Amino acid sequence: MSSRPVRLGDVVDDYCSRCRLLMNHGVVGMVGDGIKKVRCLTCQGEHAYRHGKAARRNKDGVEALFEQVLRGMPRPASPAASTPAPPGKPPAEGRKDKEGTERKEEDEEPV
Ligand SMILES: [Zn+2]
Repeated sequence: MSSRPVRLGDVVDDYCSRCRLLMNHGVVGMVGDGIKKVRCLTCQGEHAYRHGKAARRNKDGVEALFEQVLRGMPRPASPAASTPAPPGKPPAEGRKDKEGTERKEEDEEPV
């Protein structure tokens, strides 16, 4: 099976800077037999063909990410984080003195 030359409209894999992934790209621009410009089929963004490589790959990316994750880990909870609630007073029970219902009417006027 012979590999035919790439032509306009062919779908190739390339790194999309918008999607930040290796996506399918349609060839939209060629110079000679080389792909010059592609269009991401996902975001429809056109950009120069990168030959399937990211424009800028930093070698320390993974390690930096790992450190970020480590730093982002929740620290062990400190014991004195929450102050204990103060001992609540017992509910004040207002002693209801029974009011004397018997009312002695002592308004006996002397006759
Ligand atoms: Zn894209």
